[in-house]
Amino acid sequence: MATMSKYRITTLGCRVNHAEAREFHSLLTKRGLIQAAKGESADLEVIHTCSVTNTAAAKSRNALRRALRRQAKDCQNSQDHHATSPTHHCVQPSILVTGCFTTTNTEEAIRLAGDPNRVITHDSQDGSTMALRFARQLDDWLGRQRPQTSIRKPITSSSHRRVLPLKVVEPSSPASHIRAELKIQDGCNAHCTFCIIPKIRSTLRSKTIADTVLEATKLVDLGHKEIVLTGIFIGAYGHETAIRKKQANPGAEPLADLVDAVASIKGLQRLRISSMEPGDISQILLDAMIANAPVVVPHLHLPLQSGSDAILRKMNRQYCRDQYIQMIDQVNEALTIEKLRPAISTDIICGFPGETEADFQATLDVVNYAKFMHLHVFRYSPRSGTAAARWSDQHLRPEILKQRARTLMDLEEHPTHGLSINYRRHLLNRTMRVILEQPDKQDPQFMTGRCDHYALVHVPTSQRRGTLIDVEITEVTSSRTLGKAIKPCVDLPILNLN
Ligand code: SF4
Repeated sequence: MATMSKYRITTLGCRVNHAEAREFHSLLTKRGLIQAAKGESADLEVIHTCSVTNTAAAKSRNALRRALRRQAKDCQNSQDHHATSPTHHCVQPSILVTGCFTTTNTEEAIRLAGDPNRVITHDSQDGSTMALRFARQLDDWLGRQRPQTSIRKPITSSSHRRVLPLKVVEPSSPASHIRAELKIQDGCNAHCTFCIIPKIRSTLRSKTIADTVLEATKLVDLGHKEIVLTGIFIGAYGHETAIRKKQANPGAEPLADLVDAVASIKGLQRLRISSMEPGDISQILLDAMIANAPVVVPHLHLPLQSGSDAILRKMNRQYCRDQYIQMIDQVNEALTIEKLRPAISTDIICGFPGETEADFQATLDVVNYAKFMHLHVFRYSPRSGTAAARWSDQHLRPEILKQRARTLMDLEEHPTHGLSINYRRHLLNRTMRVILEQPDKQDPQFMTGRCDHYALVHVPTSQRRGTLIDVEITEVTSSRTLGKAIKPCVDLPILNLN
């Protein structure tokens, strides 16, 4: 039986990983472990890895190696400290490596971690979830009796389809962040040709509306002000497949029901929907967003990836360029209020195998048309195990990738007429709702926080973190959006945020 009192979790990757890390925190604190402070030794290090790109996999390896080095050093220090005590032995601390990198590179993860028990993948022979296997391993190490677990029956969604359930995560500790990610969906079987995710998380699961409301209510009670609904493919919420033409009743209807239910939670100040596949935007969902404004904010992340039909087909995306443009029009029409456009951000992969100058120009055209507030630009890199990685004869030279990525980033970042400054300029002289998040690093008289339209606003105020205030936007520069506080929007107690 091991003695463990302190733990540290290092999380890489997407919002879904961060939501899963919260589940690990909950499992650990329920077993009496305490989170180690920065710089403090931890008896258990958890590395929740990512492998979506080669860079993410390299970062995961590094994080694991760093944790191993930290533990070896702590062990050495402990032995030095007890050098005069011949009976002292350093109790070997533990590591748990979880997530996508362990699933794609299982053997390597075991070799690095030094023990198969330290490695937990997404998939398993018995169909159990990663969290369940995480808990089992902890209980083995702690010498705890394993609780009896039953396999939950499939749930019936609002539209009567059988959907595998996603377990509710009990938040266990007071909020230290304003924003909490809440995972409502897992899994993707869409098989975009550049993406490894369907090989890692192929089983689709959704959290019931009742369970989501239960979890969200606890998060709000613990002091979180904003919830982000997150998942691998949240447009498939309540569906058995992410392939739209195979869905019994395609559309975002179950997600719209969920948004209605969560937005009504008392005390929740803001609800965001994280990245959605473009084909999943429906009028029903947009209506739910409007009906629940201002709690549900007019901000959507809609990955374009490419503006060329030829490349979209090769990527196996489930939409074409015209459909994407129509969807942007629909979102703008529904969510523009008093000339205030919704915030739309996107992902773009440049230099996909075979991408010509004309294909790239088609992407630039859509970017200019859509007037995104923010672009995430990725240079294509082959991910082993994907279809596109095999098309090596069509891979572009690195200097072309670099130059196309630069062109896109210049479009966004140009200091006088880039997408970012143009979008933020249209907020000038408008009153925006801002949740204060932290003191401004450059000037302690200022606080920073996101407005509903996702811009980071700097505002001189003595109001505390977590306060929702009205701010008039007074100045927009290439790097900052400044405002002046008008008044707190609501007078709610501020919980556990200092
Ligand atoms: S939709 Fe495509 S890019 Fe997104 S997780 Fe599924 S396969 Fe990957």
